[in-house]
Amino acid sequence: MESGNGTRQAEALGMMALAAWQWAGGREGVPEQGGEGVAWLRDAGGYVFAASGYRQRPESLQEVLAILRAPIGEIFPARVQEDEPLLDRQDRPTIRCEEILGESRAFPPHNSPGRSLQLLLLEQAQQRVAEVRSWLKEGRLPGGSWAYTAFRRFLIEHPFTSDLTQLRVEAGQAMPAEVAGVLVDLYEEVPNWARDEAGHVYPCPRCQWPMAIQEDRIACRGPVCWRQGVRFDRTADDLVPHDWPLPEEVQVWPGGSACVPYGIWRYTVQPGLGELQLARDLQAIPAEVQLWPELDAYDLRVSRNGRDWFVDVKDWENPVSLGQSLVPLSGKELTIVVPDYRREQLDYLRGRGDEKRGFAFTTAGEFFWQVRNHE
Ligand SMILES: [Zn+2]
Repeated sequence: MESGNGTRQAEALGMMALAAWQWAGGREGVPEQGGEGVAWLRDAGGYVFAASGYRQRPESLQEVLAILRAPIGEIFPARVQEDEPLLDRQDRPTIRCEEILGESRAFPPHNSPGRSLQLLLLEQAQQRVAEVRSWLKEGRLPGGSWAYTAFRRFLIEHPFTSDLTQLRVEAGQAMPAEVAGVLVDLYEEVPNWARDEAGHVYPCPRCQWPMAIQEDRIACRGPVCWRQGVRFDRTADDLVPHDWPLPEEVQVWPGGSACVPYGIWRYTVQPGLGELQLARDLQAIPAEVQLWPELDAYDLRVSRNGRDWFVDVKDWENPVSLGQSLVPLSGKELTIVVPDYRREQLDYLRGRGDEKRGFAFTTAGEFFWQVRNHE
């Protein structure tokens, strides 16, 4: 895909998600013709026309709504794998829609009537990780930076457990007891949508978080897991794999199994898998790697043959939002590493002129060779 086009599509998708959100929010009761939600839909029609292969600008509201209710992959052929729409059958924003919005600066404000409970829960979960970080910083929890690293790594490596007692023991071995206590309190009961009729849970073979169980399919909700083909068709008495071997089937009992909440899985576990993988690859060179140093000032500090790199790993859908979110690291160059499958974002990011403000942009694969070749 040509890179400018990819950026334009990501932007269009962001604006369409916002329009879907505004439409749903402004739609308590009867939608008013000419109301604000309608104006957003008109704009969305324009974005679709500009960024997709549509020959004609969708004119009527019904046409635009049909597009927002269609799988994203049908609108943008380059995203053919994405089968979730922006609006569900009841015209509520889907999780995918909320994810796209979550990256966007144009996110609706806190008091907006359209904000869903789901989204509030998501933010609360993230706040709890941030809280642990500030308690460690202030000394209200012991262990400082190393305890934070252990805490975060543990969450990424244990998003689900079938044995909460065992998890408590392992956490106690990995970090100070007080921090382990706070960590175990973060875990929740496995949600209903992740259990089948017989009370089985299927942890994702990539990220280990419980997969969503639907009538005809079991699949991980993580965009990267999805892209890597973690989904299984469900027939009357069988699971049919696509790209991954069949998942383990875990019988869960009330009180014995638990998982991290959605927000922690989405914003700590999912990106954390990429961070840990890069760290493992670099350590094998060998290079010295510190994860989330200085209480998460950045993701990785990499050292080899007398040189240090300061790295943030960024797996963002929208390179424009990513560019806007960048905060320079005082006195150091911050290397922004995007996954190899987001290579197309580099042209846009480098073209912003941020390299003069103390950033370098590269992919995980290129960064590996940069470190490897540094003699
Ligand atoms: Zn997964």
